[in-house]
Amino acid sequence: MNLSQELKLPEVGLTGFETPLNADEQAIQASAHRFAREVLRPLGRELDKMTAEQVIAPGSPYYSVFAEAAKLGLDSDLLAQLPPDMAVRVESMIGEEMGWGDAGLAISLGAAGFPLEMAKAVGNQELIELCTGKIGCWMITHPDKGSDVTVYDIKRDWPSGAQGNKGNMLAKVGKDEIIINGQCSAWVSNGAVAQVALGYLGADYGNGFFDADGRPHGVAVIIPLDLPGVSRGKPLDKLGQRSLPQGEIYFDNVKLPKRFAVALQDEYYGNHTSAWSYAGTHMGQTFTGVARAAFELALQYCHERKQGGQLLIDHQLTRFRLGDMLRRVELCRGVARRSLAYARQTPHGHAYATASAKVTVTQECMQVVDEALQLFGGAGLSREYAIEKIYRDARAALVEDGENRVLTMRLGMLAQQLYAEGWSQN
Ligand SMILES: Cc1cc2nc3c(=O)[nH]c(=O)nc-3n(C[C@H](O)[C@H](O)[C@H](O)COP(=O)(O)OP(=O)(O)OC[C@H]3O[C@@H](n4cnc5c(N)ncnc54)[C@H](O)[C@@H]3O)c2cc1C
Repeated sequence: MNLSQELKLPEVGLTGFETPLNADEQAIQASAHRFAREVLRPLGRELDKMTAEQVIAPGSPYYSVFAEAAKLGLDSDLLAQLPPDMAVRVESMIGEEMGWGDAGLAISLGAAGFPLEMAKAVGNQELIELCTGKIGCWMITHPDKGSDVTVYDIKRDWPSGAQGNKGNMLAKVGKDEIIINGQCSAWVSNGAVAQVALGYLGADYGNGFFDADGRPHGVAVIIPLDLPGVSRGKPLDKLGQRSLPQGEIYFDNVKLPKRFAVALQDEYYGNHTSAWSYAGTHMGQTFTGVARAAFELALQYCHERKQGGQLLIDHQLTRFRLGDMLRRVELCRGVARRSLAYARQTPHGHAYATASAKVTVTQECMQVVDEALQLFGGAGLSREYAIEKIYRDARAALVEDGENRVLTMRLGMLAQQLYAEGWSQN
């Protein structure tokens, strides 16, 4: 037992009831928080009020976020130098600060580095150089292939005898060259501004798009988006995360060298689950930060607003509501960080395991944000207060990176698959 000599308030930091941070962790957290408070928050609020076209127009303040983030130096090279447990704690704290600052910009920064992280993961120096310093995006969904990108077990998860969904962005994979036709969905984060993409495409290696079970073949490729035949749709106008520019990218006979592939036929689904899991871990940290931001705003407002003859904070019911929010923020953090540790440290993680945390965090985040807005009363609905933007940002997360009900259904199917292999039968 850890005995206290006197009754006093508990140790607490930006990330709540945290075990003591060492000096390096404290310094990293402080600079991430400063960046979130001084750059992401004001910029996110400014971009939220602009049209989708204005956000991506040349000279838009949106582009400043990349130079500001680069100055911080809080990237995967830094994490790679840290002991594994510390790397997880630091990555989680940085991600939480980014989400606390602005959800849309946090996702934009994460997506921007996605192709580079994949190039590093496969150890391809040419692709690392190609992606460095560029705004990236991750194209996995297509107009007719949304939730279907998360189908892995074609026998259990698809109508018997029917071919799977190969999507709308397709590749012919030749001896030395890949030819791409079609388009990604309008939902691709950074799609409207990206200079390089990590794409997941249906692929024909010379014997059609499907294997004998009807499962689509695929190829994962890094694509420079200045190649002939690449064009864009209009930037997407949407409810929340308006600081995140999204939009379709079209491909008309776009040719690229086969060496730009990061996963061919046999490695495709393994690479796919790793990439999706990588994205999911960011969702967990980001929306923990969003939940914390909403809780803090509500806590502050309850110290300013008087009803029933006293400040809201002095009512028992209000304290209960804040206590309920605080425990949910702690729940988000705990689940997000455990899931991050599992994804980074376990030799065979799985995107459905990461999705379990993504669903929990975003659902809990939505509950916290909803209650925060309710605590503001009518003021919560006004554009004058930050909470209504946070509400819209959080709402998008229930669909982003996989719709939550579909993900939960697939988690149940994962339980079915694991049970069939003997798991939990003891
Ligand atoms: C903010 C945001 C950012 C995003 N960023 C990216 C990105 O960077 N890259 C990218 O490629 N995509 C991105 N997406 C796309 C996102 O992954 C998809 O929106 C999501 O996977 C759901 O697909 P969908 O929108 O086509 O919905 P659909 O799959 O059409 O789902 C519609 C409804 O049908 C239900 N449904 C679907 N399948 C089934 C089933 N088998 N059984 C029962 N019900 C089902 C779902 O529950 C849902 O309610 C982003 C989306 C958002 C909102």
